[in-house]
Amino acid sequence: MAIGTIIAEHAAVGRSEVYLLTRRAVGGAIDAVTAVIEREGRGFDGVYRARGLDEVGVEELREIASEEAPLTVVPISTARDGVARAVLMSRIAQRDVPDWIFAEPLLEGLGARVDALSHAYVCCGCRAPLPPEQQIGRARARGEGPLVLSCPACRAGVTTHAPGAVYVAQAWVRLLAGDPRRALVLAARAEGQRCDPHLLDPIRGVAMSALSNPVQAVAHLRRATERAPGDAWLQAELVKALAASGYLASATAELDRLVHGKPTVKVPAEAIRHAIAEVSLAEPEVGAVRAEAMAELAAPV
Ligand SMILES: [Zn+2]
Repeated sequence: MAIGTIIAEHAAVGRSEVYLLTRRAVGGAIDAVTAVIEREGRGFDGVYRARGLDEVGVEELREIASEEAPLTVVPISTARDGVARAVLMSRIAQRDVPDWIFAEPLLEGLGARVDALSHAYVCCGCRAPLPPEQQIGRARARGEGPLVLSCPACRAGVTTHAPGAVYVAQAWVRLLAGDPRRALVLAARAEGQRCDPHLLDPIRGVAMSALSNPVQAVAHLRRATERAPGDAWLQAELVKALAASGYLASATAELDRLVHGKPTVKVPAEAIRHAIAEVSLAEPEVGAVRAEAMAELAAPV
C-alpha cells in the first residue's frame, strides 16, 4: 500500500535521538513518523505521526535538529530497528508504548522487529550493542543509572565475555521487558553454550513465577538469593513464590530477612508490595506489620 518514496533520517540531538520517517506521495503529499528516544536508554520520549502536508512540520523539525546535529539519511531498516529498540527499552522502563505504531505503515513489521532484536541498548559512540553485562545492568535498573554508556571499543580496555553471556543478557532483557517465555528459551540457549548455570537461576526463578509455576520458581530463587544475599529484588521474588506455593512460614521468614537486611541491590517498591500482598492474602496480620517497614526499604535504584 505504500505509494511514494520513504526516506529515513536520524540525528543525535543532545540527550535524545530522533528518527524521522517520511513518505512523499507521487502527488507531493507527505506522511511522517517522528520518534524521539532518550539516549539514556529509557525508550520513547515521544512518538508522533502526521498525515498530509499541513500538519507534518518536517521542515521545521529539520531546522530544529540542524541547530545541534543535522538529520542524516539512514537505511529505512536502521530507523525501524531504532524504533523497535525504543519499544523494548520503553517496556523495560515501564513507559507507555502507543498501540498505533504497530499498525503504522511507515514502521512496517515493527512487532516482528521487536521480537527479533538481539539487544536493547547500544553504545552512544559507535552504536554497537553494549556488552552483555551492561545490557543486564541497564535492564535491571529499568533504564535508570549512568546517563550515557559507551562500549569497550569506545573506551580504554576490552573485556572478554563468559560463555553464553550474550544469551544471558538477552534473557534478562526479555524478562524485564515482560516476556518470561522468551527469557526461558534464551536461558536454555545460554546453557547450551555451557554458561555457568547459577547465572540462570534468577532468570528462571522470576520467569517461572511470572508463568504461574511458583513451586519451580522457589528452587531457582533459593539458589539465586543464596548467591546474591543483598539482592532485595530476588528476595522479594522468593517471598512471592514461597507464599504462592503455600510455604507461608518460609515466606514470612524470608520477608523478615528482606525487611531487616541491608540490600546491596535495592528493589522497586512495587516488587515488595507484591511480595507483601502475597503473604497478606493468607495472613493479613503479618502482611500489615511488614507493610510499615516497606517505605523505608524500597527506594529508587
Ligand atoms: Zn562504541
